[in-house]
Formats: sequence, structure tokens, C-alpha cells
Amino acid sequence: MDSLEAIEQLKDLIEDRKSFDKDKIWDRDIEALKIGIAAIEKQIPKSTYWENSKNGKIYDFGWFCCPKCNEMVDDFEEWKFCPSCGQALKWGEDE
Ligand SMILES: [Zn+2]
Repeated sequence: MDSLEAIEQLKDLIEDRKSFDKDKIWDRDIEALKIGIAAIEKQIPKSTYWENSKNGKIYDFGWFCCPKCNEMVDDFEEWKFCPSCGQALKWGEDE
């Protein structure tokens, strides 16, 4: 099972819990599953993107941003993880 399959499996579990949760007894299970999904998703590298505007102002230089939290990330170091949110980063073209 790879990460994407694990996420699908966990999402199925959430739907399963929700389907018979009229008394909200599975709320903590559902919350834990959602946290697990978010943690796995952060480990799957996502491509950085190029930005040259902020708050409506366009600059004559640009910078790379995290696809998850949109904070600036350092392309010189090509960080493996976003220092702001922990998202695994991918540099260059998507395969
Ligand atoms: Zn981030």
C-alpha cells in the first residue's frame, strides 16, 4: 500500500464511521483519522510555484512559494520541507 492508497483507506474509514454516527460517538475517531490523513499528505512532495506579486502589487523579481501555505521558500537551498508548514516540497517539473 502506498501513501495515496493509505489516504483513500482512511477516508473510507471516516465515511464508515459517519454512516452510523448519529450519537457522535465516533467524533474522536474521525478527528484522529483526519489528522492522520493531513500528516500523510504533508509527506507527499508537492511542487513549489513561482510568484511575483503580493497584495495586488507586481514586482520585477519573483520567488518560489509553498503550494500548501503559500509562504516563500528558498530555491537556492531547495528545501525538502516547507519551514512554515512542513509540507514536503518538489522542485522542477512534475513527472
Ligand atoms: Zn508551507
